Amino acid sequence: MTANITFTIIKPDAVQSNFTGKIIDKILDAGFRIKAMKYLHLSEKQAAEFYEIHKNRPFYNDLIKYMSGGPIVAAVLEKENAVESYRNLIGATDPQKAEPGTIRNLFAKSIEANAVHGSDSNENAAIESSFFFSKLEMF
Ligand code: UDP
Ligand code: MG
Repeated sequence: MTANITFTIIKPDAVQSNFTGKIIDKILDAGFRIKAMKYLHLSEKQAAEFYEIHKNRPFYNDLIKYMSGGPIVAAVLEKENAVESYRNLIGATDPQKAEPGTIRNLFAKSIEANAVHGSDSNENAAIESSFFFSKLEMF
């Protein structure tokens, strides 16, 4: 089952720019089903915990400030081969390198403010989904 889910965040820059609806449209048009979704504002502490995996990378402190700087939309998505399929839909981390038509190509502002998060493995999809949602909230 976990092989068919991924986790995404519509990041503060995209929510602030009112791209939430357009991004959700792209996700649904690509055949993903929304298993859970919520609108929330992370504290710095919560953002630091979510991105702990990156704590030794030079961009970590800025990333925490940015991700806690405004509201976000977190969601669990279901589709066959969800992790890889969603990474293809969002495009490269750096929007300058993202393929035309990908979510980051269309909506990202910079390599940091890059519109969306997408899990990089089935294992992380499960970990990240349960960071934001209880079992009861995912259906
Ligand atoms: N990031 C950044 N500078 C970089 C690389 C990444 O600010 O040089 C930010 C960006 O918001 C990215 C997040 O850190 O989405 C996590 O980085 P990762 O390498 O996991 O990229 P992703 O999996 O999101 O494509
Ligand atoms: Mg990543």
